[in-house]
Amino acid sequence: MAISMGVLCEKCGTLHLINSATKNRVDRLPRTDSNLFVLRCMACLAVRSFSRGDLRAYLVSDEYYARGFAKRGQYQLQPIQVKSRAASCS
Ligand SMILES: [Zn+2]
Repeated sequence: MAISMGVLCEKCGTLHLINSATKNRVDRLPRTDSNLFVLRCMACLAVRSFSRGDLRAYLVSDEYYARGFAKRGQYQLQPIQVKSRAASCS
């Protein structure tokens, strides 16, 4: 199991993990607030923007961690406060 920062697709409930395996799926919005990012959900094709404050820590299996996303019911929200540095996409 692994803990990763992630953001939920509000449309279909898919959790998108933000880690070194998936950072190429998340775009920083050009010429706007640098705290905003854009995510394209590969499950429902919705596009949403989020800020680092929207990221939460989730517990997922190693398989989902490597894959970069987990469907509804395949992740557990972790009640821990993660420092903003850990939420960095770098
Ligand atoms: Zn979705």
